[in-house]
Amino acid sequence: MIAFFQNLGQYLKGYLYVLAYHRVDEYENRPWLDPELISAEPAQFNSQMRLVAEKYHPVSAEDVLNAIRGEQPLPPNSVLVTVDDGYRDFSEVIFPITSQYGIKPVLFIPTAYVGRGPFWWEKLFTAVSNYPGPEISTPLGSFSIRTRAEKKQATRHLTQEVKKLPFEQGMQIVDALYHDFSPRNSDDTRSILTWDELRVLARSGVTVAAHTHTHALLSRIPIELASQEIRTSQETIHRELGQSLPIFAYPNGKPEDFTAEHVDLLRDLGFIFAVTTVEGSASLSNERLLCFPRIGVWPGLSLSAFHYHLTPVYRRFKQNLVY
Ligand SMILES: [Zn+2]
Repeated sequence: MIAFFQNLGQYLKGYLYVLAYHRVDEYENRPWLDPELISAEPAQFNSQMRLVAEKYHPVSAEDVLNAIRGEQPLPPNSVLVTVDDGYRDFSEVIFPITSQYGIKPVLFIPTAYVGRGPFWWEKLFTAVSNYPGPEISTPLGSFSIRTRAEKKQATRHLTQEVKKLPFEQGMQIVDALYHDFSPRNSDDTRSILTWDELRVLARSGVTVAAHTHTHALLSRIPIELASQEIRTSQETIHRELGQSLPIFAYPNGKPEDFTAEHVDLLRDLGFIFAVTTVEGSASLSNERLLCFPRIGVWPGLSLSAFHYHLTPVYRRFKQNLVY
């Protein structure tokens, strides 16, 4: 039945499925990182990539851009694999598996963090994990953290609350909590790829692309700053890696995280393709190439559900975005 739905895709011209991952790792491998960011365990990811390689046509970012420019249409059932943020497991787990299947992934990186410090959401996770006592008190409220489940709930809640604030205000709260409740002598750089590592990956066929500089949610910063965030990210990648493609991923990527103004901004800055975390797939003939949907992957997703998501009947890109 899934094969039947999948075959429908062959008749839809320029149809593209974009998969969205964050981390692929064993849960026990890096216990200091927030497990919420794990999209799949390595064996699960391997099965997913095998399915993509056997039943679909994996394409690269360059293939997508060439198709948009009218140079070379996409093959039927095209899949683009994207990974956000640039955690180290990209080079240790994800890339060895995608290479095995000839898949060329895109890695979207917030450039300010490269080779440096933990992402802000990891700082929150660390602060909650190390907070002494049964209840964490923050400017965003107090939460019981007696059990592992409560800690998970508190981290999730705080993350959501920070995302709603103006970005700078949110970061002040996060940095203060991290400053007070992170373990001494922790190596902040151990979980994020460095420029040297990114250079090796780029030479091996990985497309490294812009995801802003500091992972600011665009709708929570002034438009001039949004422009600066996008340009700095693109320019830094170009300077460090020698090239940058005109593609972009919105931080957080939900409809409330960007506006029509940001779409226009990307167009003005020369971007051709930008991805969101709006769930679905779409045709490249769709005019919304600067707010393209993706298919999010999470650990509970069975292989048959994953396969079903790679069909045109699974949540076709609803025309609900107004830009
Ligand atoms: Zn991100």
